[in-house]
Amino acid sequence: METVVKKIDPEYFQDIELQKACQILQTGGLVAFPTETVYGLGGNALSAEASDKIYHAKGRPSDNPLIVHIADMEDLYDVALSVNKKTLELAKAFWPGPLTMIFPKKENVPLSTTGGLNTVAVRMPSHPVARALIRCSKVYIAAPSANRSGRPSPTRAEHVIEDMDGRIDMILDGGPVGIGIESTIIDMTEEIPVILRPGYITEDMVKGVIGSVLTDPAIVAVSPDKNIVAKAPGMKYRHYAPRGQMTIVEGDLAAVTEKINVLVKEQEKEQKKTAVIATEESKERYNCSRVYSIGSRKSEGSIAAGLYDILRQMDAIGAEYIYAESFAEDTLGQAIMNRMLKAAGYHRIKV
Ligand code: AMP
Ligand code: MG
Repeated sequence: METVVKKIDPEYFQDIELQKACQILQTGGLVAFPTETVYGLGGNALSAEASDKIYHAKGRPSDNPLIVHIADMEDLYDVALSVNKKTLELAKAFWPGPLTMIFPKKENVPLSTTGGLNTVAVRMPSHPVARALIRCSKVYIAAPSANRSGRPSPTRAEHVIEDMDGRIDMILDGGPVGIGIESTIIDMTEEIPVILRPGYITEDMVKGVIGSVLTDPAIVAVSPDKNIVAKAPGMKYRHYAPRGQMTIVEGDLAAVTEKINVLVKEQEKEQKKTAVIATEESKERYNCSRVYSIGSRKSEGSIAAGLYDILRQMDAIGAEYIYAESFAEDTLGQAIMNRMLKAAGYHRIKV
């Protein structure tokens, strides 16, 4: 299959530029498109065949459900069986935006879209291209991240091309995305809603709107625990991972730098290709020829936005051993560390 790549300026485009993409969605094809979190791989959410194509293109296990993207509040009632007051409050505060909510599903949402579950995950993205695409195609778009299963999520169209060229009909290239990590997922089917995946919308932000919220214990677990089963099916898979072996070194920054320099020296003595994931503040302190700055410690947002691109660069240079600094696990840091720990297969050293 030939994959058409179409550039589109998110600040200034006309719906006519999306015509071909809309036709593809309406006829059951797949289009990757930018959202404010990461690039999504879109297909008609109400078509079992389109969902099957998404799983196939990604190489994704079929029990890992897709998020349904809508453009307007009334769309929610077409896919969710019940919508409560807390949902309306959260939607008012955070939609359109990087929050996914889970509801009992309506009959018309195929089980292939929900990975066999009777619930459906719904998000209203704020990215202008994503919104226009949903509206012009008149299709609710099932869209997981547009990466091959297990690879880091794509934050630029080049990442999507790397993973999906020849496997899907079209890629809309809207440039780098703003947030860079996936949406916060919250289960609205419980009396007290439960955060199943941390993201840009933090627990405190949710609490500020609906008073109380719980966090799935699997998120805060320091290592995978057989007794704690993540409620979001995707959280159980190795994910976001570079091919090399990644280790996160935690502690006081000076001690971390020293430890990483020792580890790098050991591996380089063995002729291993080694790389360091550092920050703007620390990048000059390493004795390694491959030091990558993920962003500035003064802005957690810059770190979230840089994370997946850096993880992909580790593969591009063929890094065999990767040593990364760690970040405080509060606010956005919780989402960052959640992704980094999974990328590292929970391999961490404290100094
Ligand atoms: P992705 O779009 O690749 O970030 O993946 C979406 C993730 O949302 C899945 O991996 C699941 O973990 C989660 N998810 C989607 N639908 C549901 C659902 N009905 N119940 C629980 N988790 C869900
Ligand atoms: Mg994903």
